[in-house]
Amino acid sequence: MIDTKYVTVSAEQPDEEVVSEAARVLDRGGLVAFPTETVYGLGADAFSDSAIRKLFDAKGRPADNPLIVHIADTTSLTSISASFPEIGLTLARTFWPGPLTLVVQRTDRVSDLVTAGLDSVAVRMPNHPVALSLIRKLGRGIVAPSANISGGPSPTTAHHVYDDLNGRIDFILDAGPTKIGVESTVLDITLTPPVILRKGGLSKEAIEAVVGQIDSDAGSEILKRSPGNRYKHYSPRASIRLVKEGNLEELSRILQDEVGSTKHIGCILHSIPDRHFGPNVIVRRIASDVEQISHMLFDLLREFDKSGVDLIIVEEVEEKGLGMAVMDRLRRGSAS
Ligand code: AMP
Ligand code: MG
Repeated sequence: MIDTKYVTVSAEQPDEEVVSEAARVLDRGGLVAFPTETVYGLGADAFSDSAIRKLFDAKGRPADNPLIVHIADTTSLTSISASFPEIGLTLARTFWPGPLTLVVQRTDRVSDLVTAGLDSVAVRMPNHPVALSLIRKLGRGIVAPSANISGGPSPTTAHHVYDDLNGRIDFILDAGPTKIGVESTVLDITLTPPVILRKGGLSKEAIEAVVGQIDSDAGSEILKRSPGNRYKHYSPRASIRLVKEGNLEELSRILQDEVGSTKHIGCILHSIPDRHFGPNVIVRRIASDVEQISHMLFDLLREFDKSGVDLIIVEEVEEKGLGMAVMDRLRRGSAS
């Protein structure tokens, strides 16, 4: 068991000394959890195989699920990407720092452990002062999957990280809850037109406004290019059932079916009106805008798990903009 150091820093103006200390931990091959604008990441030196092995181990992550390299300036791309197409430069100029990950051709300096043996590599520049400062202080890329035990809901607060990884990692930087709440959009730009391999914090519509039509419903062959799609993901301990947006009748029907057999039920609702649904039903109500839902989703799933709920019923959101990523997480979280 590792003695995990937990330090709180300001999100806007992080204490230089604290971030330097965390960077030294990374430099020595340690693991540091840090905030990004999407979710908390578990960072390791992208150029240290021993650190990366520790990272897979700490998360219980399958070794064939590749990692995203996080950078703080585009000049460091030369050590990571063998050819960065024009469309990538346009996207980087427009959306970096931000929740867009680009899959490009790798250099041989990038370890097979990072890419899971693929000939491509995923790279992004996160939009968070703590993350950017940490990368700059280390002076090279940081690989950073979500800082949780593989398979469960992603961490959107440092407390979530602590709950999952205390004793398994060296350092946690707490800068409060993350803004977006779902992971980055992963876009493969080695293909023409580019293909969304994972829906995320940057909408398809926003990308298309800059580079024209892209593909987001690629066939299963193409989705196999993103090994992360194969695994159980985002699943709380409780099972999840989805109910159509605004559909009180459907919710009542599900509750009637379940109330007898399920001990504790949690509901996450935004537009279905309030009722007294029963003594074993807890309702968490969120504002109807999709930004709020995305921001709160993983936190609510974890809260229900902590309170011993057996079934979580979630009201769906409209599948456009950020709603595409939210629905993707809900569907994958509810898959058994
Ligand atoms: P995570 O770090 O767990 O949030 O997820 C990273 C995601 O990026 C996973 O879905 C990976 O499958 C995907 N990914 C990372 N590297 C590559 C790559 N070289 N090619 C395709 N997908 C990738
Ligand atoms: Mg993850």
